Amino acid sequence: MTENEWMLTSVLDCRRVDLAVNKGELTPFQRSRYDQMRFRRAQGEPLQYIIGQCDFMGIPLSVDRRALIPRPETEILVDLTIEKIRAMPKKALNVLDLGVGSGNITVALLRYFTEMNVTAIDISDDALALAVKNATANNVEQRIEFLNNDMVLYMKEAIRQGEKFDVIVSNPPYIPTGQLAQLPDDVRREPRLALDGGDDGLRFYRSIIEYGWQFLTANGFLVMEIGDGQREGIEKIFAQYPQYGEIKFYKDYVGTQRIVFARLGGSWKN
Ligand code: GLN
Repeated sequence: MTENEWMLTSVLDCRRVDLAVNKGELTPFQRSRYDQMRFRRAQGEPLQYIIGQCDFMGIPLSVDRRALIPRPETEILVDLTIEKIRAMPKKALNVLDLGVGSGNITVALLRYFTEMNVTAIDISDDALALAVKNATANNVEQRIEFLNNDMVLYMKEAIRQGEKFDVIVSNPPYIPTGQLAQLPDDVRREPRLALDGGDDGLRFYRSIIEYGWQFLTANGFLVMEIGDGQREGIEKIFAQYPQYGEIKFYKDYVGTQRIVFARLGGSWKN
């Protein structure tokens, strides 16, 4: 669909094929909504924020400026997580999502695994409110504990309390601070908190890798989305933590290294 078709199907609440039948006949109210959408788009606002909806793994999610727009690449992260959980001797029941954002990863995993529970952390209260909305709309909110906290503070506390998770999943902010200004217009409209990965973009990987192994269960694993060109830097961080037994990288649709998977030592054989 073209962007105009997206906006029209949203205003008319119809499918793309219906547009041809309707021939663009809009009521005055619909016309003003459509004009307003086109105006916002011309100002550089991302299309998904204007429509207020997006599809993630076939799941309809609300999106707005409170959180990052779910990306197709993150579907690869979820697919891989599902595959790895299915290969575990004991299926992962206890999952931690660090930086839950709109809730896309958590909601998709909970829709897939009916026995799973997720602890979902975000430093942004606004993002959490959106995640609660998406979880509720998809009937999985009862299996999520939402926590408004800084992920590092949370991890330290979880370790102190002896908390354990089977899986840690995260799409952390990974854009180097100095590159934020050069991002495309629409990406710059997304929350800076969801994008800014510190000086070298690796700030959150350092913390998650440092603390993660300390509260993973014996068969547990950590899986994260990574930015273009970050593989080497992330390998160096992992090299400091021999507790991870296996570390693997996976590419996205265009061949960019996009996901890192790491599990604790030991075998998954029953
Ligand atoms: N994939 C996003 C982008 O390239 C960045 C998301 C993130 O920092 N986790 O715009």
